[in-house]
Amino acid sequence: MNCLLCDLPLSQIPSWRGLFLNELPQTICIGCRKGFELIGGDVCRYCSRAGIDMCEECVQWEKTAYAGCITSGKCLFTYNKAMQDYIYQFKFLQDVVLARVFAPELHELLKRRKGTAVVPIPLHPERLKNRTFAQVEALLHEARIPFQTLLEKTEAVQGQKSREQRLTAERLFSWNGQPVPKRIVLVDDLYTTGTTMRHAAKVLKDAGAESVELLSLVRS
Ligand SMILES: [Zn+2]
Ligand SMILES: [Zn+2]
Repeated sequence: MNCLLCDLPLSQIPSWRGLFLNELPQTICIGCRKGFELIGGDVCRYCSRAGIDMCEECVQWEKTAYAGCITSGKCLFTYNKAMQDYIYQFKFLQDVVLARVFAPELHELLKRRKGTAVVPIPLHPERLKNRTFAQVEALLHEARIPFQTLLEKTEAVQGQKSREQRLTAERLFSWNGQPVPKRIVLVDDLYTTGTTMRHAAKVLKDAGAESVELLSLVRS
């Protein structure tokens, strides 16, 4: 097998599986893996932004109707050059096989969570037009993490809206009526402004979830 990103044969490269003690095989080489930067150190408790315990953006969110919707949050990787290239190829060029690249990491984080349902963020309608597969579901599928779909998208996100407009925007998601577990991990691929996650978390809380934790592959 060859590295999914650079096509170097993986068999000639020492395995780094032990690093994560994962059960899923690596699909990229060490060189490509080094290009991705894990978020570490002191970070925001909700969105993993580097710095203090609660970043300014989340402080603002906690003053809105979305206050208290999120129990805690974690983003895994920074949005550096390697990640931008990956996201572009995965999401926009629709290279679905790339969902395997971060399967070991996602598997480790999401496995063995008894009593907690994993819920993916659905695609927005405007994006669904241009994309043929749901990226977050593909990531979870490759990570062999069972998930539950509880959300439906209701409105396209307008990229040009101001922050204020986004904060007060109408609901982006609706609950699909399926039973809502008490504990939920909400999963997305890219955390940008928090709008998507906050809106989705509020819908789930309003539908009866007691705690909603966020997990995003990337923090932009
Ligand atoms: Zn490679
Ligand atoms: Zn934050």
